[in-house]
Amino acid sequence: MSAIAFPAPDAAIIARRPAILAGLARLVAPDALITHEDELRPYESDALTAFRKVPLAVVLPSTTEEVAAVLSYCSTEGVPVIPRGSGTSLVGGATPQEDAVVIGVSKMNRIIEIDYANRTARVQAGVTNLAITGAVMADGFFYAPDPSSQLACSIGGNIAMNSGGAHCLKYGVTTNNIVGLKMVLLNGEIIEIGGDHLDAPGYDLLGLMIGSEGQLGIVTEATVRILRAAEGARPVLFGFPKPELAGAAVAAIIGAGIIPVAMEYMDKMAIAICEDFAHAGYPMDAEALLIIEVEGSEQ
Ligand SMILES: Cc1cc2nc3c(=O)[nH]c(=O)nc-3n(C[C@H](O)[C@H](O)[C@H](O)COP(=O)(O)OP(=O)(O)OC[C@H]3O[C@@H](n4cnc5c(N)ncnc54)[C@H](O)[C@@H]3O)c2cc1C
Repeated sequence: MSAIAFPAPDAAIIARRPAILAGLARLVAPDALITHEDELRPYESDALTAFRKVPLAVVLPSTTEEVAAVLSYCSTEGVPVIPRGSGTSLVGGATPQEDAVVIGVSKMNRIIEIDYANRTARVQAGVTNLAITGAVMADGFFYAPDPSSQLACSIGGNIAMNSGGAHCLKYGVTTNNIVGLKMVLLNGEIIEIGGDHLDAPGYDLLGLMIGSEGQLGIVTEATVRILRAAEGARPVLFGFPKPELAGAAVAAIIGAGIIPVAMEYMDKMAIAICEDFAHAGYPMDAEALLIIEVEGSEQ
């Protein structure tokens, strides 16, 4: 792990820290600028905690305009920036450098509008994945891409990583479930791409931005698709004496034209680890498990 080399931080930027902090303080409210080392520590890594760097500062803007002001300032001053959602990335995407300013969207956590007629919701980038489903669940809808971290991860982070989960076999990953974005480019320019319905006219810039890992700008708002929740779907668990048989079962199900709402595979090691933790009663003599959820199945 330690073999991975980070780029050397720019000593000239670090030497200018007091002036940079003063510049940032002019752009956001006092409680939106974190500068004390103790308070910077939570931002020194994402979920890949093997790599840690305390950033120059953390800014937590509340509006798109504040994000734009901070990005414009950092671009003019030549200060690197690291966008951050909830910090659950497992690949170090939100890991900062000592000469970088982390821009977190966690204060931007409002659901702006739910439009059932068009089956969309407009949300701020810091809203958690599960909160979107939480907002529409009582009306029989849900937001489909469901990373296992959905309780904590933000929709902005999901967009940057094109995240997916168990429901993505049937409903697609993040890129299939976003119709519009408001974002700020690294020079501070605010842009809107896509629209409020599928396949907006013009170039497919959503395809470029979704999955770009925060390298092209900071997402501040998203218009997401919300779907009718499946009726009567419940998971069924199958144990297999050989992993190959589980694989063949997956191929046979898909080959028969059945697309389950969700389908997950666990190998023997995963079964043992999960059983040890959750005591779910998994069949411990199975070499592989399939957990399959089929829409409309009667249990
Ligand atoms: C227990 C656990 C389970 C997980 N399960 C899954 C899973 O099932 N499927 C899956 O795909 N992933 C999974 N992940 C990984 C992670 O949760 C996802 O990648 C998630 O989308 C990250 O969201 P975040 O808000 O935490 O983003 P962060 O970790 O904060 O950032 C991730 C990347 O996105 C960028 N970014 C964040 N916010 C923005 C923004 N507003 N604009 C532009 N760029 C931004 C950051 O710079 C960084 O590069 C899991 C992680 C954990 C810890």
